[in-house]
Amino acid sequence: MRKYVIMGVQGSGKGTQARMLAADLDLVHIAVGDIFRWNVQHHTKLGAQVRRTMAAGLLVGDELVEGVVRDRLTQHDWNYGFIIDGFPRNERQAEFFLESYDIDGVIHLDLPDSDVRRRVLARRLCSGCGVDYNLIASSPRVPGQCDACGSALVRREDDTEEALAVRLREYHEKTNPVLAIFRRKEYVVTVDARPGAEEIQQEIRKRLNLPPLRRGAVAQNGVTRRAASADGTRGEPAHQDAAS
Ligand SMILES: [Zn+2]
Repeated sequence: MRKYVIMGVQGSGKGTQARMLAADLDLVHIAVGDIFRWNVQHHTKLGAQVRRTMAAGLLVGDELVEGVVRDRLTQHDWNYGFIIDGFPRNERQAEFFLESYDIDGVIHLDLPDSDVRRRVLARRLCSGCGVDYNLIASSPRVPGQCDACGSALVRREDDTEEALAVRLREYHEKTNPVLAIFRRKEYVVTVDARPGAEEIQQEIRKRLNLPPLRRGAVAQNGVTRRAASADGTRGEPAHQDAAS
């Protein structure tokens, strides 16, 4: 059984890398952001709590996140292991996690702030069907227009320079102490998040002593659009995880 944690700033392609690893190794991908989104969409009690918090302009609290993760992990449907994304978020949770689970590795996707800015500010969202675009890597065929439904592409409200600067500062403040705890246990592999998705995945596997990604696995999973091209063209996930 393999148990991994994946950490990375938004725009680092964390969700894509986690899904690629999970699909190939039969791991359960536990993404805190996805669990929250599902609960909001399905109008659960938890969803209402998350919605209220976000409507007030606050971040979902660490306690709530911890409860969700504990619940999810006690389902024990992860026969071959899991990769967790969006947790732990503070030092206490990191300690709890280390005590409760035998972790095999922490994947840290490293992306300089300047690249985060470039990637995040290039994100667009279809105002009709909600599909994500990135003007750098997955631009639409007709500028400003959704390939699928033809609606106008818009920027997310919180994808501004100012809001991003705040998020980046918060991210580093929260993440650095967590990374420090994992580093003391020598669990952390730091991987450059700037190359294409497949190249990053191979590097992760090499560093974790895992078998290389099977050829064509990327395209089959449908997680990336251009990253799988044979000529090594740099690419980014077409559908970036809003929470990653
Ligand atoms: Zn659309």
